[in-house]
Amino acid sequence: MASIFTKIINGDIPCHKIAEDDKYFAFLDINPVKEGHTLVIPKQEVDYIYDLEDDDLAGLNVFAKKVAAAVKSACPCNRIGVTVIGLEVPHAHVHLIPIDKLNDMSFEKPKMNPTQEALAEVAGRIRSFM
Ligand code: AMP
Repeated sequence: MASIFTKIINGDIPCHKIAEDDKYFAFLDINPVKEGHTLVIPKQEVDYIYDLEDDDLAGLNVFAKKVAAAVKSACPCNRIGVTVIGLEVPHAHVHLIPIDKLNDMSFEKPKMNPTQEALAEVAGRIRSFM
């Protein structure tokens, strides 16, 4: 069965899209730890990120770099934190999170729970810098 992220890529589940090319896709995390929290995924459905072929892993990181620049412009911060967890969704993804301090990267604190309208506004702001 297709992963939830494959369903997002295919448009079967809505998302707040940031960017895509033929191999990669970026969209807002629905449950951000910080405003602008973005997920970058390969369109190829692979569970564990280090099971990607080297070229595909490199391409994912290069694509994420472009997205991170737009997130940083849209959500001013000290830097974009990058992490890979993958305990919840079995489709490789990189988390890009605007951070000013270490705790901003924490997944243990309560999530933000923004409205769809708030997510749409943030996504539009990030897209304007792509
Ligand atoms: P993890 O697999 O542990 O890296 O976490 C998966 C991440 O995907 C979490 O931060 C979720 O909030 C996020 N997530 C799960 N479902 C969706 C969805 N439908 N749209 C956007 N983000 C999602």
